Amino acid sequence: MAILGIDLGTTNSACAIWDGDKVQLIPNRLGEFLTPSVVGIDDKGLVTVGKVARDRLISHSDRTVAVFKRLMGSNHQVQLARQRFTATELSALVLKSLKEDAEAFLGQPVTEAVISVPAYFNDNQRQATRLAGELAGFKVERLINEPTAAAIAYGLNQRAEGTFLILDLGGGTFDVSILEFFDGVMEVHASAGDNFLGGEDFNNAIQEALLAEQGITALDLSPQQRAQLATAVERSKRRIGLPGDNRISLTLGKHQIDKQIDDDWFTKLATPLLLRAKRPIERALDDAKLNPGAIDEVVLVGGSTRMGLFRATVGRMFGRLPACHIDPDLAIAMGAAIQAGLKAKDAALGEIVLTDVCPYTLGTEVNGPDSKGGGYFMPIIERNSTVPVSVERSVVTAHDNQQVVRVAIYQGESRLVANNIHLGELELAVPPGPAGSQQVDIRYSYDMNGLLAVDVTVASTGLKVNKVIEQAPGALSTAQKAEALARLDKLKFHPRDQEENRALLARGERVYQSSLGDQREYVANVLGEFDKVLERQNPQEIARLRAKVNEVLDKFDRDNWL
Ligand code: ADP
Ligand code: MG
Repeated sequence: MAILGIDLGTTNSACAIWDGDKVQLIPNRLGEFLTPSVVGIDDKGLVTVGKVARDRLISHSDRTVAVFKRLMGSNHQVQLARQRFTATELSALVLKSLKEDAEAFLGQPVTEAVISVPAYFNDNQRQATRLAGELAGFKVERLINEPTAAAIAYGLNQRAEGTFLILDLGGGTFDVSILEFFDGVMEVHASAGDNFLGGEDFNNAIQEALLAEQGITALDLSPQQRAQLATAVERSKRRIGLPGDNRISLTLGKHQIDKQIDDDWFTKLATPLLLRAKRPIERALDDAKLNPGAIDEVVLVGGSTRMGLFRATVGRMFGRLPACHIDPDLAIAMGAAIQAGLKAKDAALGEIVLTDVCPYTLGTEVNGPDSKGGGYFMPIIERNSTVPVSVERSVVTAHDNQQVVRVAIYQGESRLVANNIHLGELELAVPPGPAGSQQVDIRYSYDMNGLLAVDVTVASTGLKVNKVIEQAPGALSTAQKAEALARLDKLKFHPRDQEENRALLARGERVYQSSLGDQREYVANVLGEFDKVLERQNPQEIARLRAKVNEVLDKFDRDNWL
């Protein structure tokens, strides 16, 4: 049975399978390969995922949510149609929808998955992703770093050898990885990134500049007007650098926006963001002790790498053009599918062993140099260590007749644990004695899936405590997991077969809202007619009129950019 390769993106998700000798991308219920990672609940309580939900961001902002991947691994809950959801639960709904699409397309149940995560995701975020997969009904075979998946999609593993730089600029995250391929082994040498840099930030920059020119802020607009503006900005961003007119003309209540979006204007706005993007690239090169000349191939993935300015920035840094010939939105799903095929030991792929890195430092809390107290960070596994990795370091008791040693587990790069992320802790008894007389060995083992096992041993007694961190923020107990499952199961999805009609109505509503006068009336009439035919439930009649409505909307819809 096929294992589904899934790119669970901030903005868009996609999935594919390895069919034995090639990647097969899976179309969703609308026949498209990209499913926007947007979840909505309508007034009847039915869940919608994807384009229909995205179209409703304008008209039903309180019942629709997007970009929740940024909250993965946190306990933050999002309000959606008067219910509250964690990012894990919302992701589970996206995954459920992909699962249904895959099963419908393949005509068989699909229960196993390989899911991609940004290389820069921490333990909590990885566990939350794994849990989202389980809540959607998948056995999660493994998680794969997005840049690693991209490299596989580009077939970089089919070369004799090489050092490659993968840059993934999506909607909300930026990932940088240096991969080295040698002797049939793909090794990720460094990864860095910025969890808060993506295409959305370029949109925000444009939007803020437009509003500033009007002397207003987003707060002066209704949620509906804001969403309308956001749609126009996205469309316009995609036209930058292309021939032809690129003008944003919008009436937002009493505010009139009419602006020619020219390249120079955008370059000025984008420059601070492009400078930010350079930083993790430089850090990754530094960590790997490489200069730009040592990179054999620079590969771009993620929808935002379509921006000419980004390509130019990268081109200047490396003195050559980056590779970007595979659809940047689909490369990761394709790589995840190939990895899934590899997992199923498909001979067509040959032998590749993939190694990854731990993208951050893992350590424990120790006393400061003055021995006055704790609060200091002792690294155990260094950032960018190749995984699987297992490292042991020892500490000694700090006080006379100390009875208990507490091992606090932290992740981060700061000298002070207060600035790092607390992952958990464990305690064990030590025999009394003078300070420094008892030695405690702490072993950290970090595996391919980004999960950390901690083993602590008291040298003198041989007493061992072994712990996989359970109290990580965002992690759920078994009972909480069952509860979340039951809750998600209760949510009913919209029937798949009505999706096309709903997509059309949602699009129609959007076009209606952004039109005026006669055009608006014309659209209203066509939609009214469609409503009537839908009520009569005659499939042929519906299909015929759907084609006509589509034609009408195509004429007026300036924002149909997907
Ligand atoms: P994610 O990995 O976050 O799901 P994607 O790789 O799907 O994201 O990229 C989505 C981002 O790509 C969005 O911010 C979108 O605005 C941007 N994008 C898509 N096409 C273009 C384009 N032609 N020009 C500029 N940006 C684009
Ligand atoms: Mg992505």
